[in-house]
Amino acid sequence: MKRIKIKDLLQLPPQRQPVLVQGWVRTFRNNQFISINDGSTILTIQAVVALNSIDESALKRITTGACISVKGELVPSPAKGQPVEIKVTSLDILGDCDAEVYPLQPKKHSLEFLREIAHLRARTNTFGAVMRVRHAMAFAVHQFFNERGFFYIHTPIITGSDAEGAGAMFKVTTLDINQPPRNEEGHVNFKEDFFGRETNLTVSGQLEVETYAMALSETYTFGPTFRAENSNTTRHLAEFWMIEPEMAFYDINDNMELAEAFLKYLCQYALNYCSDDLEFLNKRAQEEEMTKPQDQRNELSLIDRLKFVVQNNFERLTYTEAFEILRNSTPNKKKKFQYLIETWGADLQSEHERYLVEKHFKKPVILYNYPKEIKSFYMRQNEDGKTVAAMDVLFPGIGEIIGGSQREERYDQLLKRVEELKLPQKDLWWYLELRKFGSAPHSGFGLGFERLIQFVTGMTNIRDVIPFPRYPGNAEF
Ligand code: ATP
Ligand code: MN
Repeated sequence: MKRIKIKDLLQLPPQRQPVLVQGWVRTFRNNQFISINDGSTILTIQAVVALNSIDESALKRITTGACISVKGELVPSPAKGQPVEIKVTSLDILGDCDAEVYPLQPKKHSLEFLREIAHLRARTNTFGAVMRVRHAMAFAVHQFFNERGFFYIHTPIITGSDAEGAGAMFKVTTLDINQPPRNEEGHVNFKEDFFGRETNLTVSGQLEVETYAMALSETYTFGPTFRAENSNTTRHLAEFWMIEPEMAFYDINDNMELAEAFLKYLCQYALNYCSDDLEFLNKRAQEEEMTKPQDQRNELSLIDRLKFVVQNNFERLTYTEAFEILRNSTPNKKKKFQYLIETWGADLQSEHERYLVEKHFKKPVILYNYPKEIKSFYMRQNEDGKTVAAMDVLFPGIGEIIGGSQREERYDQLLKRVEELKLPQKDLWWYLELRKFGSAPHSGFGLGFERLIQFVTGMTNIRDVIPFPRYPGNAEF
């Protein structure tokens, strides 16, 4: 007999037809009612064992966490909240689970505790829901771009350039770190390393994907990204996934249009296709809200926040306009910000971004035209000589979710900036050549995939939206 997934089984009319279900026991009550989950959905199926129909030794092995295989008839359920149940005819234990030592008891566990048992946390309702939503979002990302004729480019994970300036990098080497070869000056001789040069894990696929945008017009990359910064926040991982579209013939306004349409599409997709999981996560988030002080609670529920993003235009304003709002804001005047806003040109911190989004505009915000000193060398310089055509999308609860820009497509201007910042031209030669041979105006941005998943699932810590989080001091699983 062929196994049926619980998700599909719950769609069937109960006609006493034989079914085979396999999954993990969530609870077993009164030696009779087994609640089984197989991860195909957040919902469980109840399997009912008739008295004395299964021998005592097998019944003893049905414990929370055990893996079982159940055959039976699909019948209407008299119990509330479930249309059908299985009347068990035979039952096999596929994997025992010693209830005495199983860490996942059927009760509430803290997310911190679950991080310590990352190999088992997938079996909780919360992580099941988060990972199904994560899958749906990855699928929707590809669908969005495919519908618009973008091409998915796999950019390299090992990179020879460390000029991207997006953050500290992890070195990739096969040299013996205890006794590395040295050159005449006594420095480590990377000419003897695997690639004959220094290499690192990528901090962004942008520079490489730009080369393909200069040929295929509309492209994107979606892959793992690494940053060795020691930032122990709820929004940073050392290994995360980033989606980076890069488009020829798009200016900064086209770029903002695309970013807004993209985020709306993803939120709408979750509302359409993840409703069971979102309902669960919505309730979970609401319970978490109740543990916060009243003035820090969200006014909108998780599902309402998703609808809000879909239904409202994002507020667009320049860095300079935002700077004035922040400078004159109450928390700035009362010195409530940790970093006070005083001089034009200062980088905005998460507290400022969240003030604009959550208190001032009460909606997603796109800031653009940032001071050139706080942005990357490749961003297009504006006429004013002070700002570049950068844009950041800021979301409630998260702060920056997208960072992007129109790129500098003019060879002379780009070279000048590379020289001013003393960037290694020998590593950037190919990037500069794109501006020499058939350069085109172009733009792109990076969406941190886990920050998106945080927003869509309402999980407050980024470590809980990736299967195995990498952060300072942690790479156990
Ligand atoms: P932040 O200021 O929040 O540290 P950033 O400006 O360094 O971010 P970018 O280099 O612009 O980030 O990267 C593009 C996007 O990648 C960000 O908007 C964010 O969504 C995501 N991102 C950046 N760093 C991380 C990280 N360490 N962990 C998870 N996501 C990240
Ligand atoms: Mn950024």
